[in-house]
Amino acid sequence: MRTPLLAANWKMHHTVGEAERYLRHLVELLDPTLNLEIVVFPAFTSLHVAARILEGSPVKFGAQNAHPEKKGAFTGEVSMAQVADLGASYVICGHSERRKLFGETDEFVGAKVQAAWSFGLVPILCVGETLEERKGGQAWPVVERQLASALPQGTLGGPLAIAYEPVWAIGTGFPAHPGDAQDMAVRIRRWLLSRFGPVGEEVRIQYGGSVTPENARDFLTLPDVDGALVGGASLDPDKFWAIAQAAVS
Ligand code: PEP
Repeated sequence: MRTPLLAANWKMHHTVGEAERYLRHLVELLDPTLNLEIVVFPAFTSLHVAARILEGSPVKFGAQNAHPEKKGAFTGEVSMAQVADLGASYVICGHSERRKLFGETDEFVGAKVQAAWSFGLVPILCVGETLEERKGGQAWPVVERQLASALPQGTLGGPLAIAYEPVWAIGTGFPAHPGDAQDMAVRIRRWLLSRFGPVGEEVRIQYGGSVTPENARDFLTLPDVDGALVGGASLDPDKFWAIAQAAVS
């Protein structure tokens, strides 16, 4: 009943020209009858290109990050309001690279999720443990803490996706064991249902971390995983499309 969500996180890759060629090619490859929602996350500099090329196409676009304040003296930042103004649908909140490299706290990530909803964007909330935390049996407590601080008790403020991305699997070529991804998706779903009631069924739970065309089926056919957040393998539109096909085969 949940449409799988496949996301391409380009990170700090692709010039405007490369983004344009990528998106035109992706639109050509696209089979609109597939039961799959596709969203691309270009760098800020190419969001306007995505807005132009994807207009009228089922492929959506979003920002890899945005600031929760609507406007103000935040040099170098881009707000959710500005991203929404371009026609974006999604925003990634709390990617582990932002948590680790830019010191984003659970609280700040929570403020971003709330701001995304107030500007009509769908947040993809990223959660996941480090290798040390997993080895120490702390994978679920860490993920639960990240969920609880980003999603306060009460009602969900709008549509939401959660990407379970074990930090040690991102960009390393060593994906999680599919059984562990499935186990975490089940825990996250149970947590959502106990916190928010039946509306928790609507949240899509993705897996992210070294997904490739070769291993995509292992994750995308898991009963409780509703799609993937793909970094490295999404940089090439043909590879990304191969992953999309694995999601529906
Ligand atoms: C990511 O950027 O969220 C990610 C999962 O990257 P990769 O697919 O390269 O591991």
